[in-house]
Amino acid sequence: MTTDSPQPFDWRLAVVDPTPRAPAGFRSLVTPTSRGSTTLFERAADLRDDWDAEKAPYTYGLHGTPTVLELGARIAQLEQGRHCFITPGGQAAIALIYLAFCGAGDHALLPDTAYGPNQGLAGGLLKRLGIEVQTYDPLIGAGIAALLRPNTRLVWCESPGSATMEIQDVPAIAAAAHRAGAVVALDNTYAAGVLFDAFAHGADVTMQALTKYIGGHSDLLLGSVTCRDEAHYRALGEARNFLGMAASPDDCSLALRGLQTLGVRLAQLERGTLEVAQWLARRPEVRTVLHPALPSCPGHEIWRRDFTGSASVFSIVLRDGPSRAQIEAFVDRLALFKIGYSWGGVTSLAAPYFNLRRTLRPYGDRLVRLNVGLEPPAALIADLEQAFAALA
Ligand SMILES: *Cc1c(COP(=O)(O)O)cnc(C)c1O
Repeated sequence: MTTDSPQPFDWRLAVVDPTPRAPAGFRSLVTPTSRGSTTLFERAADLRDDWDAEKAPYTYGLHGTPTVLELGARIAQLEQGRHCFITPGGQAAIALIYLAFCGAGDHALLPDTAYGPNQGLAGGLLKRLGIEVQTYDPLIGAGIAALLRPNTRLVWCESPGSATMEIQDVPAIAAAAHRAGAVVALDNTYAAGVLFDAFAHGADVTMQALTKYIGGHSDLLLGSVTCRDEAHYRALGEARNFLGMAASPDDCSLALRGLQTLGVRLAQLERGTLEVAQWLARRPEVRTVLHPALPSCPGHEIWRRDFTGSASVFSIVLRDGPSRAQIEAFVDRLALFKIGYSWGGVTSLAAPYFNLRRTLRPYGDRLVRLNVGLEPPAALIADLEQAFAALA
């Protein structure tokens, strides 16, 4: 290779104007997608790297470009929090909360029905780091006081619980936790920050998998952590910086688009899901329907007291009789319901849970979780009806 070989192209093509602006006369309805690892400073003396975007925005892409910060600001507004950090996914948001508030020798409480990977993190990495996470009955309410210790730093709530859908008495749990000086964190993914007013019910910190309802189209992974208190903001911001939890501006731009239709999607999903759930409750194959708006769901009265609506994910518990292979055949036979993880998009999904670790209210291998999408409820009902033949 010679150094004097002619450039095969105009090198100026590789150089962009560092301050691109929309040309005069162009206006659109879309938040621009601002990408960037390097962000530029005017003078060497201005150089600084600060995670706190409120103090010094745009010092390095890791802390958020305008698109990322815009999404955070809108989630904070949606949840009526003061600050919101965007994380690469919902599980990253969970990890961030633990690592912001807990250290070696600390104790945390987690409902026995929490999102599986949260329990996995607790029993794996956190245990190795000397953080003890104890599980509790999600329906414990004010009784949680008996589990609080002088070193309890963090009390998690997740309401409804993953797959088994128990609704928690968050105000009672939060009141006891606050008396003991613990931080109350809520996984508010089900409510999308809309159906349950977390801060009004005593949460200090909320997280969501934006992957679910905010994204809304099964095409991105993002999480959020929202808080009100300045000390919590600092603890979370410093931990997020140490961990280098950057979020993609492209994914954030999709989530901003998702936010625009969140209201209509949630309203339609609620209606369609209720129609399917109520039909299932009348089927002979089904022992019980675990849907927060139905009286058969543990904690239903609290849902009526505290929530403003229900969402698209729920579970059915099948009657004894059919084998696991028959339950799998039932799920395989569904045509509109696809098989896969995650939920909150436009497509209906089904997943059997044979090995749920639930010591308090076990459902054995009878539980099938459903997510209702935007297909017509009558078509979904017909789909379930033909698939039930596999259980006979
Ligand atoms: C999906 C989910 C998460 C994790 O979100 P990811 O973006 O998939 O990492 C956390 N909590 C709950 C309740 C979830 O359903």
